[in-house]
Amino acid sequence: MSYSADEIARIVSSVVEQIEKGRESSTSSEELKNTADNTSQVESWLGVYPEIGMCVSKSNAAYEAFKKIGVSHRELMIREIRNVCLQHLEEIARLSWEETGLGRYEDKIQKNRLVIEKTPGTEDLNPTAFSGDFGLTIREGGAYGVIGAITPTTNPTETIINNSIGMIAAGNAVVFNPHPRAKNCCAFVVHLINSVVQKHGGPSDLVTITSNPSQESGQAMMKHPGVKILVVTGGPGIVQAAFSAGKKVIAAGPGNPPSIVDETADIDSAAKHIISGATLDNNVLCIAEKEVFVVDSVADEFIQALKRNGGYQLIGSNVQKLEKLILIDGKINSDLIGKNADYILAKIGINVAPEVRMAFFECDFEHFMVKKEQMMPVMPIVRVPNVGTAIDMAVEAEKSNYHTATMHSKNLDALHEMAVRSNVSIFVKNGPSYAGLGMGGEGFTTMTIAGPTGEGLTSARTFTRQRRCVLKGHFHIT
Ligand code: NAD
Repeated sequence: MSYSADEIARIVSSVVEQIEKGRESSTSSEELKNTADNTSQVESWLGVYPEIGMCVSKSNAAYEAFKKIGVSHRELMIREIRNVCLQHLEEIARLSWEETGLGRYEDKIQKNRLVIEKTPGTEDLNPTAFSGDFGLTIREGGAYGVIGAITPTTNPTETIINNSIGMIAAGNAVVFNPHPRAKNCCAFVVHLINSVVQKHGGPSDLVTITSNPSQESGQAMMKHPGVKILVVTGGPGIVQAAFSAGKKVIAAGPGNPPSIVDETADIDSAAKHIISGATLDNNVLCIAEKEVFVVDSVADEFIQALKRNGGYQLIGSNVQKLEKLILIDGKINSDLIGKNADYILAKIGINVAPEVRMAFFECDFEHFMVKKEQMMPVMPIVRVPNVGTAIDMAVEAEKSNYHTATMHSKNLDALHEMAVRSNVSIFVKNGPSYAGLGMGGEGFTTMTIAGPTGEGLTSARTFTRQRRCVLKGHFHIT
């Protein structure tokens, strides 16, 4: 790729600026850990500012400069963002695991790798042409400007990488208000992204993040006139809060994904897929299986298959002990979210090997674990008389989140009925839920599945304003 004189001048000045600020990105793992414990050092990272208003004004200035940068140059930056995140993959995963206390380090490596490799870049923008007797019309996606993004604690760095690639590919700048319990790992990723954007001729602060995130800073960001649209990823609270900000919102809300196993399924494979989907990062993913409906005629066989594949069955009084541990004052005990199954079981006096990935128990449809999004590797299993009842219950348990469902069956009619009636953004058949994110399944990935506002799996084109450019009378060669 060749650069114009202007671009070379910009590269030189940004490198000089970087050196002057002493903010090199080649931080070692040990330095990183020490830095992340120290707020003033975190604030020395590129794109990190203590106050959200400062982030918005810095990103607005960056957006003005970024407008002059062409699509191929953006793509070069995105390639370098992928490279730098890959080089720091283990540190990113470790920081995120240590700071949030959620999930599994090795799974965080997989999830971060997924977004680095499978988030679409500028190729996703895909303009459309209409050519005919009256001339040529092109529909293209233009940038919005500065996007305000709110990110969760469950996929913290993954969402920053995924959103940044998509938003930058679409020509935007972005301000992040991360979850307070994931602020440092997210700030580190923002630093890495800015370091390569600047190194490759982009403006400083194309991506900014506050080092003091809170719900208040999130509210201030959402209402700030310098923020053009909101992209929020999280639970019901943030989705509601974003809708009242008076701006266009792309809202990725909570899920409670049901999984169905019917009598035609390959039972062993269904059990393996459900365990592996439901235990990825200890079930913190919004798409992960949260309750299972199994047809009675194969339920015993399915339970045996779960036990063979890393599941531990709770029965009798142990189920009540677990219920008391998990539900406190009507709410899911947040201390257990994203914890290993052996850790949770030990709390009720059951000691199992760390190889046990998931605990499960049988219950009826009204059980709180069927209705609530538990986000831990503990699975309620509901026996049903037939697949019709399974679909009725699964649709109700999904609660119109428009999120995710999985089904294990070879009955095309039943699969079709679930596909239509569930109305979910992701429906995985005969595989683990994460296949719907392109992990061992076809298709691109995202960490922002916008069910409530209908964009579904977001990508660069989601972050564009659709614009039409019309030439009357010429350039139609049909
Ligand atoms: P959370 O709702 O507690 O927090 C998400 C973000 O919203 C955080 O940055 C938080 O500070 C902010 N926030 C929450 N309420 C707010 C308010 N009233 N005003 C301003 N900011 C507010 O969620 P979490 O525990 O971090 O993540 C788990 C939840 O997110 C689950 O419900 C999960 O299903 C959902 N999620 C959805 C998707 C998706 O793509 N649809 C992806 C990941 C997570």
